[in-house]
Amino acid sequence: MSRGVILNANPSSGSNLQIIVPRGYEDEKVLIGGCLVCGAKFYRGQEAIWQSHVVKCATSNIDELRASAPSETNKGTIFDPADRDADLERHFREVGERMRREGRWDVRPNERADT
Ligand SMILES: [Zn+2]
Repeated sequence: MSRGVILNANPSSGSNLQIIVPRGYEDEKVLIGGCLVCGAKFYRGQEAIWQSHVVKCATSNIDELRASAPSETNKGTIFDPADRDADLERHFREVGERMRREGRWDVRPNERADT
């Protein structure tokens, strides 16, 4: 079990001075960013690793990313522009305008699409 971190543990750097820093007093890791695909976190000093990771991660998960795009997930739902009924949309926009004008929140039975 380690008691802390040894600073300058590499004597080839020109100095033989070693400082033992007790646990809890190490340099604080500063979070600089993360990968939006896999959630990996990157800290100060890892900028280059972060950049190369993001590119590799996005490239290797491109199919999954495309599948989760709103244009794909909305296919076949009421939010899919291709499946929209223009007459129905026009009707509900008019109903919405009327409701705003009249300051009401309820749709009257004769304003519903099925009547
Ligand atoms: Zn990633």
